[in-house]
Amino acid sequence: MELYKNNQLKIYNSLSKSKEDFKPLTEGYVGMYVCGPTVYSNAHLGNVRTFMFFDIVYRYLLHLGYKVRYVRNITDAGHLENDADEGEDRISKKARLEQIEPMEVVQMYTVDFHDVLKNYNFLPPSIEPTATGHIVEQIEMIKEILDKGFAYEVNGSVYFDVLKYNEANHYGILSGRKIEDLIHNTRTLDGQSDKKNPQDFALWKKADEKHIMRWPSPWSDGFPGWHLECSVMSTKYLGEQFDIHGGGMDLKFPHHECEIAQSQTCSGIKPVNYWMHTNMLLLNSQKMAKSTGNYILPNQILSGENDILPKAFSASVVRFFIMQANYRSVLDFSGEALIAAEKGHSKLMEALKYLESAQAGKTSSFDVQSWVDACYAAMNDDFNTPVLISNLFEAVKLINQMKTNKASLNAEDLALLKSKMEAFAYDVLGLMDDTTDNKSDKLNGAVELLIKLRKEARDNKDWALSDQIRDELAELGIQLKDGREGTTFSVN
Ligand code: AMP
Ligand code: ZN
Repeated sequence: MELYKNNQLKIYNSLSKSKEDFKPLTEGYVGMYVCGPTVYSNAHLGNVRTFMFFDIVYRYLLHLGYKVRYVRNITDAGHLENDADEGEDRISKKARLEQIEPMEVVQMYTVDFHDVLKNYNFLPPSIEPTATGHIVEQIEMIKEILDKGFAYEVNGSVYFDVLKYNEANHYGILSGRKIEDLIHNTRTLDGQSDKKNPQDFALWKKADEKHIMRWPSPWSDGFPGWHLECSVMSTKYLGEQFDIHGGGMDLKFPHHECEIAQSQTCSGIKPVNYWMHTNMLLLNSQKMAKSTGNYILPNQILSGENDILPKAFSASVVRFFIMQANYRSVLDFSGEALIAAEKGHSKLMEALKYLESAQAGKTSSFDVQSWVDACYAAMNDDFNTPVLISNLFEAVKLINQMKTNKASLNAEDLALLKSKMEAFAYDVLGLMDDTTDNKSDKLNGAVELLIKLRKEARDNKDWALSDQIRDELAELGIQLKDGREGTTFSVN
């Protein structure tokens, strides 16, 4: 029987601001959409915190036996500099500054994003659609919104009519804003804008002559508004109504509010049942962000090439650090916090290693089934990873007592503990045994293998091959030294 049948998951829904029982639209199936990165620069660790949390959500849903379609988009057009409808397109601007094609910018940072996700052991989403791959569908959705009377065209641009929408709906339902406050708090139009009201947002923008990324449409050569792509791609791949929509808290307004307005206008139904938002990763007590220069890149943590940390840390340690905090709390990034996480992580890994060869006793001094229930209860409580980790450390304590015969488990309990420890640490939290020692062990093994192959080549008088192995290793900075005891090596 699938685990989800015995596990009532609760999700904190940003829409109702309360924890609700999770009931997917179709039993056994989950549709989940997460707003992906805007690929105009490298994703920083703050972005990765958000994506990592949804990786855990995906992993846990799979662990429970759900069939999940997980869609995470790539924003490669339409995201303007200030998140509103003004300023340059972020990707176009980068392309202009670097004097390269916008699609080169997109390719460069998409490749980098995937590299980071691979290093940090993310599961790939089921579908990763791009905004530029869905221009036709975006134009179709604009036509539908225009036909329904909730948008208007001015000088080749099309805007969503927020006040009209708000007559029968609540624009601000997700972010807890009232239209009166929005009207009160927004600047009045300066005569430069084509909008009827400052709250309205762009569905299509006419491109000026300098704008490189442009597509033909019934209204002008232009480009879609940023909010539109997510309505279009979530509807296309998950339907008019789906289960979970995620993103960072800073996307609630205006991005997700606008998504709801667009989708609901087209379908007449609420598009998303559970909205989930992650809190921010901080550095020096400030939000980690590219725009302020207050950030660290995920790969800089792995290489140690940065001015923030005392040394390099493994991806699994960073995962452990991020999962020690609840996703709805802010989290402070620092060298001290990573050093503490590294200690905890290595204790957990040692315990997991010990379990591989632990011997069962005749009786059990620990109630493993209650421990398993507590682990599930933690994750069922809105993916409470810090509580799960503290449960894992209950087991670490037990395992350390087993090492000195102060505790024991019978064969059945030992097998249960081992399988659930591995499932929660590796499958659900996505941790890896990737300590530096382990990596250098592997590299040492590879060099030893080359030394053995060189010896075989020499025994066969294949001097060309043996010299090639020695010379090419030397080019990599690995010197072989032949002595009486055999060949040794040193790394420069
Ligand atoms: P962007 O590429 O700017 O659209 O951001 C990608 C995702 O990262 C969005 O869900 C943002 O909300 C999220 N995000 C941005 N900064 C942070 C941060 N400092 N901590 C956590 N999530 C963040
Ligand atoms: Zn989005």
